[in-house]
Amino acid sequence: MSLTRKRENTINFSPGPAALPDEVVREARENVMNYKGLGLGVMELSHRSPEYTALNLQTQDLLRSLLHIPSNYQVLFQQGGGTAQFAAIPLNLTPSEDTTADYFITGMWSQKAAKEGEKFVKVNHVLSKADGGYMTIPEQSQWNLTPGAGFVYYCANETVHGVEFPEPPDVGSVPLVCDASSNFLTRPIDIAKHAVVYAGAQKNVGCAGVTVVIVREDLLGKCRPYTPVVLDYAVTAKAKSVYNTPPVWSVYILNLVLKWIQKHGGVEGI
Ligand SMILES: *Cc1c(COP(=O)(O)O)cnc(C)c1O
Repeated sequence: MSLTRKRENTINFSPGPAALPDEVVREARENVMNYKGLGLGVMELSHRSPEYTALNLQTQDLLRSLLHIPSNYQVLFQQGGGTAQFAAIPLNLTPSEDTTADYFITGMWSQKAAKEGEKFVKVNHVLSKADGGYMTIPEQSQWNLTPGAGFVYYCANETVHGVEFPEPPDVGSVPLVCDASSNFLTRPIDIAKHAVVYAGAQKNVGCAGVTVVIVREDLLGKCRPYTPVVLDYAVTAKAKSVYNTPPVWSVYILNLVLKWIQKHGGVEGI
């Protein structure tokens, strides 16, 4: 690989960590050394400082306005990537290992989610096994949904296999969970149809280190007693996502990307 290749001559198609807008990288570069003239860089900023408190809350508000998130939903930041959510979802949403949860397996990521889910719930496959590879989503008449399931899980866009749901699946009143990691903020999503929508930042809205979790408020406080505290949605919500040291840098980059999206016409514009 040439060591003299210029950023402006490079087209980076990597799905994640994905390319960031130049404007964002340029602004971040300044603030690595000196954040808003405070005399210290953003990575050195205390997560209990008024500056981070403002940044944290503003970032949550930006998500609220860009996605038109209804007021009965909380916007949380957790760590551990999308992969941590594979466990956080069943732990927060279901009372015991006897609960059945329905998974749409449409590619590698939902398959991984279901494999992790098997540790915590009885996993039911909504679709029959895709023998010819993951090419399509069978029509609703072929779905095998469990009445009264703990939740229904789907991956809005399979980053590796490329299968994308045109709209959230209609699963009636069962809580619907969406892994939106790889199409997050590329188009509007009706949050109100979901119990939880989550997305790791590095695919579309920033860098690795922070996962956005949008959760309906009435689902908080029902996690299993042995849920690790850093995955407990209610604890994260109560602490406004600063229960322990948050990934200040990752939230900062997320903030810049959200402002960039806002400037370019919001999610509708994107
Ligand atoms: C990348 C990806 C994940 C896993 O994210 P990590 O941050 O690596 O844990 C989960 N779901 C989807 C759709 C992804 O693209």
